[in-house]
Amino acid sequence: MVAQELLNADSSVTYDAIVIGAGVIGPCVAAGLARKGKKVLIVERDWDMPDRIVGELMQPGGLRALRSLGMIQSINNIDAFPVTGYTVFYNGEKVDIPYPYKADLAPVEKLEGLVKDGNDKVLEDSTIHIRDYEEDERERGAAFVHGKFLNNLRNIVAGEKNVTRLQGNCVEVLKAKNNEVVGAKVNVEGRGKVDFKAHLTFVCDGIFSRFRRELHPEHIPSVDSSFIGMSLWNAKNPVPMHGHVILGTNHLPILVYQISPEETRMLCAYNSAKLPGDIKGWLSKEVQPHVPKSLRPSFDAALAEGKYRSMPNSYLPARQNDVTGLCVIGDALNMRHPLTGGGMTVGLNDVVLLIKKIGDLDFSDRETVLDELLDYHYERKNYDSVINVLSIALFALFAADNKNLKSLQKGCFRYFQKGGDCVKVPVKFLSGVNPQPLMLARVFFAVALYAVYLNIEERGFLGLPMALLEGIMILITATKVFAPFLYRELCS
Ligand SMILES: Cc1cc2nc3c(=O)[nH]c(=O)nc-3n(C[C@H](O)[C@H](O)[C@H](O)COP(=O)(O)OP(=O)(O)OC[C@H]3O[C@@H](n4cnc5c(N)ncnc54)[C@H](O)[C@@H]3O)c2cc1C
Repeated sequence: MVAQELLNADSSVTYDAIVIGAGVIGPCVAAGLARKGKKVLIVERDWDMPDRIVGELMQPGGLRALRSLGMIQSINNIDAFPVTGYTVFYNGEKVDIPYPYKADLAPVEKLEGLVKDGNDKVLEDSTIHIRDYEEDERERGAAFVHGKFLNNLRNIVAGEKNVTRLQGNCVEVLKAKNNEVVGAKVNVEGRGKVDFKAHLTFVCDGIFSRFRRELHPEHIPSVDSSFIGMSLWNAKNPVPMHGHVILGTNHLPILVYQISPEETRMLCAYNSAKLPGDIKGWLSKEVQPHVPKSLRPSFDAALAEGKYRSMPNSYLPARQNDVTGLCVIGDALNMRHPLTGGGMTVGLNDVVLLIKKIGDLDFSDRETVLDELLDYHYERKNYDSVINVLSIALFALFAADNKNLKSLQKGCFRYFQKGGDCVKVPVKFLSGVNPQPLMLARVFFAVALYAVYLNIEERGFLGLPMALLEGIMILITATKVFAPFLYRELCS
């Protein structure tokens, strides 16, 4: 039964903004604009708590964006689990990758009108401790049950006086004769299809977006792999408070991170959009042998229980928001591989930039808003391209299916093992705090050269000619998995 207040939205007024979708990004856009004094309508097809296996680990860069927006307390009171870094396993060996020191980063920006009354600081609860998040010398991430986090974001937006919430399925983006977007048509229970008008319509309808094509008919994601997800209960994680990336020469990457005191998420990569016919058989044969020993009892129990869920891993470079009256943001605009858990971080940092650029404009001045949105496309690139390209390039290496990629995979792990800057610099890309795409390129090719060096060392003096030939192939492969994606991100 839908609460009546979610069905009442007034269709006789023109809103400053309509936000389609109340997933991760929609509520942040709506609350941010409302705090800037805009009259906002947010439309969600289902305000009940969703149950999904996406968006469960937030990198420090995402938490910093939530602080900028004055919404960091959305990680409170949901049994969120602190994350202090990653541990990468490779054929049984392991290396720790702790998150960066706060002292090495710029201070968090507080958006005017959004940050007030300490809403940029976490609260104390049973799992999130103020001293850890506010006083620790290193950045932290957080992992949580996605639906609980979304509920918190939605509660924040519900508390904003300038926001009207509506439950309904948006079926059309409304256009004037000149093709400018003027609002949204929403199918509302008991009211049928109702037209709502706004100066600016935000499309935040997520991974399976219906409206992203309003930007361009070819704005369509590609899907080459999937994640098969399981819940491990009361698992003994090898490194508490770390995300685990389990790699090996003969298997695809397995991700493990604790999302509550009881629940640990395991995501097993599968190298196709089409899932294996016998998932249980595949998990027993291809995953179980590579699961660290301490996780085996909980893994075996989950396997026996037989509850699996899957998600496609999509890739979609962003397009410029060049349609008057329309702004596409979040997964509807831009997607990357979920391997590095960067999706929410990209989307939230986009919201911060967006509010900075247009939050103080009069939305009825549609031309000025459009000009700012055109600029926004270029300004977001430095930050977003790093997370996007890293995710794609790392997945290629971690899911290595040929000799050269396997050399790069090994090179990458050995590079991390060197420690010092070989960990300190890459972890800044992973955690979303270093928006420097050219620096990412430098590090990626340093890894590739290290892989070449290791290969030469392994071949020995007599194998040198062969090693040099293989080195060229390794570098060509590295260029192929990195350069086209960086180019697309920076030049699209
Ligand atoms: C397997 C997997 C794991 C992931 N893990 C992580 C992770 O650990 N960390 C991370 O940062 N990112 C992760 N991501 C990415 C992350 O989930 C997304 O980046 C994030 O959810 C995007 O937020 P969004 O608001 O754009 O879309 P969503 O969160 O998908 O929200 C879209 C909302 O729009 C609503 N909606 C859709 N259509 C309509 C309509 N027609 N009318 C009304 N409402 C509508 C939906 O109901 C939904 O509430 C993962 C992705 C995948 C695939």
